[in-house]
Amino acid sequence: MVQKKNRAFFEEKIADFSEKAGREYLPWRKQNITAYEVWVSEIMLQQTQVNRVMEYYTRFLKRFPEVESLSEATWEEFLPYYEGLGYYTRGRNMLRTAKEVVMKYQGQFPREKKLLETLPGIGPYTASAILSFAYNDNHLAWDTNLRRVIGRFFLGGKHLIVDEGIWEEVFQMQRKVLNGALMDFGSSLCLARPKCEACMLRNKCVYYVEKGEKERQDKRYKISDKKEKGEKTKKIDWKKAEVYVFLHEKHQKYYSSQKKSFRPFIISSGYNTRAGIKKYFREKYNLTLSVRPPHKKNIILDEPVLFVNAQILLGEPHFSVFPKKAVEVYNVHILNI
Ligand code: SF4
Repeated sequence: MVQKKNRAFFEEKIADFSEKAGREYLPWRKQNITAYEVWVSEIMLQQTQVNRVMEYYTRFLKRFPEVESLSEATWEEFLPYYEGLGYYTRGRNMLRTAKEVVMKYQGQFPREKKLLETLPGIGPYTASAILSFAYNDNHLAWDTNLRRVIGRFFLGGKHLIVDEGIWEEVFQMQRKVLNGALMDFGSSLCLARPKCEACMLRNKCVYYVEKGEKERQDKRYKISDKKEKGEKTKKIDWKKAEVYVFLHEKHQKYYSSQKKSFRPFIISSGYNTRAGIKKYFREKYNLTLSVRPPHKKNIILDEPVLFVNAQILLGEPHFSVFPKKAVEVYNVHILNI
């Protein structure tokens, strides 16, 4: 399936890229990282951009340096170190997982992928990332970057990886290095719109040689095929969506949940009705709101999200205020994930 010389070329160039342009400065790329430290970084990265996670990660590990200290934390103790990352279900899963690792596995994350996947909030990708980054075990961490780079280079399209298991046997590079390098490569060169002209893989890249035809065909096939077969797309449970509340005054100024940059108020699914949102602001901030129906629905990092506008009717808001422009910048950023 994969020619030996292509595999060798790919690995040589990717290793070279890693040496010259890898993001080794990231705190979760340090040598001798523990499974716990990888897990914390992966959970945070599931929901937030790298730069932002860097702010939280070091502070979080300073307060909870190992899984034992996290397992003893209450939600109230945990929240100040997590608040602002959103997706509170995942935050709650972090606490549940920490407790389970301490009680069931004596404080050691299991070394077996199947066992890791039984822990709350850990799926196949996170399990592979933990095992490869902490122990250099033989697992490819199939995130969107790996799918895109490997799929395009060897097969001509980012959607063309079907059987992931086969690829575990193909590569010889240390998994820790390979996974990290492909993540960096996929987020700097082989982007959704790839920068092929600057890419050292292009001479042997199927996508480049075929001018991306398979990827385009694949997209067309997927949409038309589904329509033809009348296949249902995955049902989205909007009742479980998180809500991004854009609290504003006549769309001139916007209140932010954070001090230094604009961020909407992110409310977990327990409060995702208009009445729930009002209750949340009344209880948490002593404010009475008027809340509009959701003006947008979106899937962000595989999670359903509702966008809601609201204004303050009664009460004194003690929030930072930003102009409309900051909100537009935020929306471009968040909608392009
Ligand atoms: S040539 Fe283009 S598509 Fe191929 S790996 Fe490089 S950036 Fe990606």
